[in-house]
Amino acid sequence: MMRTCDVDGCENKHKGHGLCNKHLTRQRHIRNPEKRRAAWEKWDKENKDNRKSYMAEYHLGYYEKNKRKLIDRSRKWHKENPELASQRNKKYRENNKDAVLISKKAWSLTEGNKRAQNNRDNIADVYIRRIIRERFGVKSPPQELIELKRVQLKIHRLINRGNKI
Ligand SMILES: [Zn+2]
Repeated sequence: MMRTCDVDGCENKHKGHGLCNKHLTRQRHIRNPEKRRAAWEKWDKENKDNRKSYMAEYHLGYYEKNKRKLIDRSRKWHKENPELASQRNKKYRENNKDAVLISKKAWSLTEGNKRAQNNRDNIADVYIRRIIRERFGVKSPPQELIELKRVQLKIHRLINRGNKI
């Protein structure tokens, strides 16, 4: 029977010191900081252009995996350090004006639109009361009238929205 690598789950052919070629190399690199650094520098040089996207991908993967935990931790920190948090936030905004602008735009395109839509669809009673008061001079309209006016407003808004498209 062919001797295989001692590392659990590795079925590669034995090369030396109980390890396969891959794990032998890895072990050498781990044991020898000089070699480890050299290997890292070589990789870094060869992947200069890709390094940023590699790192971004790596961090994104980490973020996705630990989302809940990270968000909780961040929330806790913000609660405990409100002044520091607002300082950091301000500094970040100053240093990353473009990124802030882009994320604002992205938000208004998705969440912002949803919210605006919701606001349009759920017309507040206060608003309807004011319209009835101003247009018809009725100071305390019955709820039925408010509901009717709401339906009418919604229909008008739907028609207007349709015209815009
Ligand atoms: Zn191995």
